[in-house]
Amino acid sequence: MSTITIIGAGQSGLQLGIGLLDNGYDVTIVSDRTPDQIAAGRVSSSQCMFGSALAREAALGLDFWSKECPPVEGVGFAVPGPDGTPAFSWSSRLDLPAQSVDQRVKMPKFMDEFTRRGGTLVLDSADLDDLEKYSSTSDLVIVAAGKGEIAKLFSRDDIRSVHTAPARALALTYVTGMTPRTPYSSVAFNLIPGVGEYFVFPALTTSGPCEIMVMEGIPGGPMDCWSDITSPDEHLARAKWVVDTFTPWESERSAGIELTDPNGTLAGRFTPAVRHPVATLPSGAPVLGMADVVVLNDPITGQGSNNASKCAASYLASILEHGDAPFDATFMQDTFERYWDYAKYVVDWTNALLSPPPEHVLALLGGAAADNRITRRFVNGFDDPRDFFNWFMDPALAASEYLTPVAS
Ligand SMILES: Cc1cc2nc3c(=O)[nH]c(=O)nc-3n(C[C@H](O)[C@H](O)[C@H](O)COP(=O)(O)OP(=O)(O)OC[C@H]3O[C@@H](n4cnc5c(N)ncnc54)[C@H](O)[C@@H]3O)c2cc1C
Repeated sequence: MSTITIIGAGQSGLQLGIGLLDNGYDVTIVSDRTPDQIAAGRVSSSQCMFGSALAREAALGLDFWSKECPPVEGVGFAVPGPDGTPAFSWSSRLDLPAQSVDQRVKMPKFMDEFTRRGGTLVLDSADLDDLEKYSSTSDLVIVAAGKGEIAKLFSRDDIRSVHTAPARALALTYVTGMTPRTPYSSVAFNLIPGVGEYFVFPALTTSGPCEIMVMEGIPGGPMDCWSDITSPDEHLARAKWVVDTFTPWESERSAGIELTDPNGTLAGRFTPAVRHPVATLPSGAPVLGMADVVVLNDPITGQGSNNASKCAASYLASILEHGDAPFDATFMQDTFERYWDYAKYVVDWTNALLSPPPEHVLALLGGAAADNRITRRFVNGFDDPRDFFNWFMDPALAASEYLTPVAS
């Protein structure tokens, strides 16, 4: 059976590695951090995963937190009006609950599971020489290193990429003590035109249940406000300021929040990009990029971990179907294109939400409060964004389905 090396022990690398082990492959995963370092390190994501991505994990027996992790049962949406209350707000249940398990909890467990099922875990920060070494000893090398430096080996696809600079200044604040939303738990998604977005939802962290606050400030605007922060307490105070200033209807339930731990904060920015999936090493050997390495989206739509899971499932299917044939550059490009047939919709939808909304989107989101067909469809689109292209992304389809009064 083929020997496969994966660089990166994150969502995509571990899920693919475990899937390959279950099918008899000889798999090595190279990680630049030990499980203990990940568990004791800084938060890296808000990692909310929706039903169909969770199902892909569950199919591999990786559903370890369904009892412990508070479910995310719906999505709520609000836009501020002139008087400190929402101009409109609505919410709807998800058909399947979503779940966010802190990667500091999840990845160490997946790493243990990977070795328990027979995988080899190598602790090393892989560089170009390592890639040459692994490609001479493996039938296939996959780079699943997320936003790691080594991803730069894969050149930007100028046709499929639209961003040349970060689209948002990002911040995460993991907290306890927030009053839950009723009547069901949800992602509270607040869109503040010209300023950015604030969303918050329940999750499971190293110390138990928590809420994750995600702030996405338009660069240079008032929510791009993290560069002067020097301590976790200052970060928490700034997060409260963001809520009180831009989404005051969220203030009351946030009054008693505290950080989960001193590493429960993150601030930074990155440029979303699509990269060519095949990199050629100096020796001429091709290596295949996966998940964030090749399709890196802004977190505004909460799709990165979902994409990573779907990419892992798609690559697994391609590898299994390929059988004993050589894993050449053509195989690698085809494997990526199969995933891109899904991911391109996520990229286009995510990029659309990063831009000022067009008229028909404002009409849909505004009209949704009075039409639960719209809220239900919008909310469940997070699980499979391809559906947005059947209505939300197209003014004519949006009008014919939802905006034109039905003749009596
Ligand atoms: C602020 C923020 C909020 C987010 N919120 C969400 C959300 O709500 N929902 C969602 O679906 N997604 C979210 N994401 C995105 C999501 O976390 C990522 O898209 C996802 O983790 C990508 O998975 P991956 O397997 O590509 O990489 P990762 O999970 O990042 O794993 C890559 C691994 O490779 C390791 N590595 C790097 N370089 C090397 C090297 N040279 N050698 C060995 N190992 C290496 C890294 O340490 C890491 O462990 C968010 C991201 C951010 C920044």
